[in-house]
Amino acid sequence: MMNYEKARRTILEKVAPAGVERVLLLEAAGRILAEDYSAPSDMPRWDNSAMDGFAVRSAGCAPGTVLKVTDYIPAGVSSGDAVLEGCAARIMTGAPIPPGADTVVPIEETEAGEQSVKLLQQVKKGDHIRFQGEDVGRGDLIMPKGTLIGPPQVSLLASFSAAVVPVYRRVRVAILSTGDELVEIGTEPKESQIVNSNALALACAIKLCGAEPVILGIARDNRESHLALLTEGLKADVLVTSAGVSAGDRDLVREILAELGVVEQFWKPGVKPGGPTAFALRGNTPVFSLPGNPVSTMITFDEFVRPALLRMMGHEKALRRTVRGYLKEGTRKKAGKLNFLRVQVTIEDGRYLASTAGDQNTGILKTMLRCNALALLPADRIEFAAGEEVELHLLDPTLEMEA
Ligand code: AMP
Ligand code: MG
Repeated sequence: MMNYEKARRTILEKVAPAGVERVLLLEAAGRILAEDYSAPSDMPRWDNSAMDGFAVRSAGCAPGTVLKVTDYIPAGVSSGDAVLEGCAARIMTGAPIPPGADTVVPIEETEAGEQSVKLLQQVKKGDHIRFQGEDVGRGDLIMPKGTLIGPPQVSLLASFSAAVVPVYRRVRVAILSTGDELVEIGTEPKESQIVNSNALALACAIKLCGAEPVILGIARDNRESHLALLTEGLKADVLVTSAGVSAGDRDLVREILAELGVVEQFWKPGVKPGGPTAFALRGNTPVFSLPGNPVSTMITFDEFVRPALLRMMGHEKALRRTVRGYLKEGTRKKAGKLNFLRVQVTIEDGRYLASTAGDQNTGILKTMLRCNALALLPADRIEFAAGEEVELHLLDPTLEMEA
């Protein structure tokens, strides 16, 4: 049996970004920039007004001065006429500063006449002007390769008219369920049958990673069916199977994968739930064989598959946020495997407190509904006291923000 840390390291060592594509800016949302992006021009591109007011020459603008208003420059208009001594140009926010002017006086600090304006306060040279390049200078490396693209990145890229951007490509992830007992969703299961819920749960998890799920259906517990569908699955960027990976005589997944030239990297990563999980490669194509029990399927996906998918799509942060927290209740486990305790984390006085999310039996699916983190109980330990410090993998990103 391998240990958990080594299993996760192995996965991250063996997978690499799948490739780069150029997509429309909005398609880049939530994805990772694949090339450095340097500003193609200054931003702002020209000096412009930060206020609705009057563009003036600051010299000779003492309080009480009356200036002649000689021009009107709304946003979207550029005036070539210089502001002369004793004059001012009415200017709106965002409009280019006209030649000759060096300062903008906000409307609120003036008293307007017919064709004139009276200054009420001291004017400081340069006030209320957004200067060319003060935000971003031409050639500045503003977004290095590896940047996660969210609203601020889209805003800047759009302001530079970058309609198409290079991002790491989404990976296609084939999902294969195995088992004679399975029926597809929408079919009423007879006694002894169950609905292939894992395909949907995996597809959901894959989508939430930003990858593209491809549901292949159900391989029956015979060689031919497995051969045909596993072969199909190996055409995707990643193949994820559920069930049929333990040591039962109907558990064919590992054996048939091996026949197809898939090289196993580990089996049994020393965890519970998720004991029989396997990870293998055919060339660059990762193959994850997850156990069939839906709780185990979801947890092993999160712990082993999700980091691989994120890494393949260029994410530097491929792992769930890990924090130290404290157990609210004591608990026991067997020695030998690292256990994932399904917990509900709250933040109290700046500390993460983890209480059990419910019955920890892997047959109890509803515990997952209340679970917003996994507490990692180390393999070699048995007894955990209330108040003990543990490592937590936060499944709910909003928990990070509240902290
Ligand atoms: P196995 O790994 O084949 O022994 O399956 C373990 C458990 O998971 C059994 O109770 C299966 O019925 C259940 N199971 C297997 N595949 C699925 C699936 N696709 N959806 C929901 N439950 C499943
Ligand atoms: Mg089975």
